[in-house]
Amino acid sequence: MKELLQMALLNECYIFHNVMLPSVFPMQIDILIIVPNAIIILEIKNIRGTVHFKNNPRQLIRTSETGEVQVFTHPEIQLEQYIQGLKHFLGKHHITIPVYGAVVFPFNNVHILRAYEGLPIIMAKELPLFLHKHIGKSKETTTEIKQIILSQLQHRTPFPLCHYFQIDSSALQQGVYCESCGQFGMLKLRMTWYCQHCQNKCTNAHIKALLDYYMLIGDTIMNGECREFLKIESQYVVKRILQKVCATSTGSDRYRQYNLSSLYLNHR
Ligand SMILES: [Zn+2]
Repeated sequence: MKELLQMALLNECYIFHNVMLPSVFPMQIDILIIVPNAIIILEIKNIRGTVHFKNNPRQLIRTSETGEVQVFTHPEIQLEQYIQGLKHFLGKHHITIPVYGAVVFPFNNVHILRAYEGLPIIMAKELPLFLHKHIGKSKETTTEIKQIILSQLQHRTPFPLCHYFQIDSSALQQGVYCESCGQFGMLKLRMTWYCQHCQNKCTNAHIKALLDYYMLIGDTIMNGECREFLKIESQYVVKRILQKVCATSTGSDRYRQYNLSSLYLNHR
């Protein structure tokens, strides 16, 4: 799942895990990803052995290595229901956007048998390519949809995501993201952030970076961690930023932990 998250971050997408939204159909979506011009729903199947997708009636039958047979709800039935449910939810908020779904097997040691065409079944490794196929150009609606989903979520995303997905936070793209050209590494100048790639200037680019930090790594940050994440050398500059955006902090001197929760609550 690591590539998935990294790739999604690079492309300015939004990922939600274990999503329950109000709709005509009950929904408990494993992973929902908002990409420019589409929403992708992933149904994760953490099972190994030989899995047989049967049609008519639709069943998922798993035979383990020891020969034990187990019957599961067919993931396509769930996916179809979630896709319809999400379309209904979005329709109520006057949003029209394509919704795609896929069944994902994270483990390689699974043998999949399916004799008919249906919704995509993919291995975790294929995810970046699969997502890429559905990413469009328009970024206008992604933020709006993200806000609507966040406001309607019936179950909060389990932050921090790195802990949840067991991702080493050092593998994340660091530096401040440029909204204008999509590159990381904006420079902190005296009054503003400056992008060396496209000359874009932005006074509050660090806000989004700190929100990412909150969602990915944790709800508190220390001066040194922040310097590394924002790629700022001066501890004094970072101190000023953290004092401004964080309502509370605990500890003293260089061990001071700044709390990012209020920042998140104000920008959600
Ligand atoms: Zn730029």
